[in-house]
Amino acid sequence: MRYILALLLFFQVSVLCAQKNPYGLNIINSPQAYRASIKAHPEKALVDIKKAVPGVVLDIRYATKNNFMKQVMYPSARAFARKPVVEQLKKIQAELKKKGYGLKIFDAYRPYKITVAFYQKASDKNFVAHPKSGSKHNRGCAVDLSIIDLKTGKDVPMPTPYDSFSKTAAADYQDLPPAIKKNRDFLIGVMEKHGFRVMYNEWWHYDFRGWDKYELMDIPFEKL
Ligand SMILES: [Zn+2]
Repeated sequence: MRYILALLLFFQVSVLCAQKNPYGLNIINSPQAYRASIKAHPEKALVDIKKAVPGVVLDIRYATKNNFMKQVMYPSARAFARKPVVEQLKKIQAELKKKGYGLKIFDAYRPYKITVAFYQKASDKNFVAHPKSGSKHNRGCAVDLSIIDLKTGKDVPMPTPYDSFSKTAAADYQDLPPAIKKNRDFLIGVMEKHGFRVMYNEWWHYDFRGWDKYELMDIPFEKL
């Protein structure tokens, strides 16, 4: 009897371990597990940002070769984030609209596998998440974005291009023309007012406050 119990315990532990990745992280990597998590917590649904946020512009660089990886990482140019994250983006878009601006999204939910690939290839590891912790993008709780001028459709000038691995990209970098600094600080101000926190070394990256309630995920867009 004791032997059988020990055997049962062994199998149970094996099953639990099988859900963890080599870094010991729990990652939702099957559509079934994702559906079950939404059933228990509807706020965990990953929502299509383009469909939910009126007038939002997408410029999904990882669906093109125009990114630091110089290769196509996503099969389609889409952007998803958890429901409460998208609700906040809606409010931000409405507020920006009153001032003649609109959101342009570069990236949002990112499957964990892509984060691993980024880490392996990135020349400067300070600008990519370590696979041992994963990225808040993997939780559907981080968004890379900027703003456009609604009248011209053009980008509002910012300190650097997206994904520039330079010190000028820091959220508090000071040695900038006043107009550029004003644009960047305006964007950071609007985002922080609505529940996001800017990444200290990337003016375009915003973490949703409360990200720790959402699991890491590794499901491609087409399986969501
Ligand atoms: Zn980011």
